[in-house]
Amino acid sequence: MTFVQTFPSFPASTRSLAKKYLTQEIYNRLIHLKTQNGFTLSEALRSGIENPDSLIGIYAGDEESYYVFDSVFYPIVKKYHKIKSTISAPMKSNLCTVDLPDPDPEHKYIISTRIRVARNLAGFPFTPIISSNDRRKVENQIIESLQNIEPPFIGKYNPIKKYEICDEELVSYINKKKQNIEVKFKSSFRKGDRFQESAGINRDWPDNRGVFESNDKKFMVWVNEEDHLRIISIDQTGNITEVFNRLIKAIDIIQKKLKSKQLYFAWKDDLGYLTACPSNLGTAMRAGVHIKLPQLLKHNDILESAAKKLKLQIRGTCGEKTKVEAAVFDISNSQRLGVTEQQCCKILYDGVCRIIELEKHLERRYFK
Ligand code: ADP
Ligand code: MG
Repeated sequence: MTFVQTFPSFPASTRSLAKKYLTQEIYNRLIHLKTQNGFTLSEALRSGIENPDSLIGIYAGDEESYYVFDSVFYPIVKKYHKIKSTISAPMKSNLCTVDLPDPDPEHKYIISTRIRVARNLAGFPFTPIISSNDRRKVENQIIESLQNIEPPFIGKYNPIKKYEICDEELVSYINKKKQNIEVKFKSSFRKGDRFQESAGINRDWPDNRGVFESNDKKFMVWVNEEDHLRIISIDQTGNITEVFNRLIKAIDIIQKKLKSKQLYFAWKDDLGYLTACPSNLGTAMRAGVHIKLPQLLKHNDILESAAKKLKLQIRGTCGEKTKVEAAVFDISNSQRLGVTEQQCCKILYDGVCRIIELEKHLERRYFK
């Protein structure tokens, strides 16, 4: 006799991929399973149920989640990353330098460029269920691996308590930048949003979280934010090439340091680097710019449809689900799996060039 389980009660307004792909049959099969760290399907789905506006609606508690709950994760991953065939081919990682021209040679539109990858240490639970003891161990291992890092990455680790920036500060930074007032760039590592809160990621905040920042402020590692590591390269220019090349050099150094201590990044051949949110799988790379587009702000439909075609994600000034302040958009690649890191970078470059063209076209139309 098959026992029919109570299906999770997604609020009617839920549009998440988890709701779309979780069938009663899959649910019945997975609901009693647990990973070795004790992570369950109910925990994976909690954030998406509590937040009907979730886009994805499911988090992984550890590497094993992608094996044990594969029948729900895989269709979601396929849809989000726009993969046409079945996900079986090994994920290609290509951490080689790029050489692209400046997409904004007049320095008129791009305010800053930020490229990051997410990484988790294999063998440790991910942030939704990590214990405080393991979180501390992860932090210590990362700090150690950054201790004697070579130039130009030399810097300092700041525990998060002393190092928080709120959205208002970021907006004020952008306003000052607009007036050409020179300000020091700050990290924007802050407590996770309500999606992350429901997923358990904010537990014990802000203990054992922190930011390693290079002396020149162009390289950062966020420790124990949504993933164990966010390795970030950032600059107040549109020089995508420099920002990308600096990042891949840093990733290589960190990976080697960890390897020398028998520590590895969590990885699955078909899904690439494993992350807490399935939107980050694959390269785990977000390559983005903060870009000022006053004309396209007034013609949001043009921007939205261009972004879709160009495989870009458009977000508010302070990231996911935030407002656009002073016409500054955050534009980045939306797909991370099924593409190499170089392709993520090229998608951003081509997309930004096209969007600048559209902005100029509107300027000409209205200021002839
Ligand atoms: P993700 O976790 O996907 O990297 P988040 O929105 O969670 O993105 O965090 C990114 C943070 O970095 C946000 O506070 C955002 O405002 C900031 N940020 C994103 N892109 C840029 C950029 N090009 N320049 C400066 N800051 C940026
Ligand atoms: Mg984030």
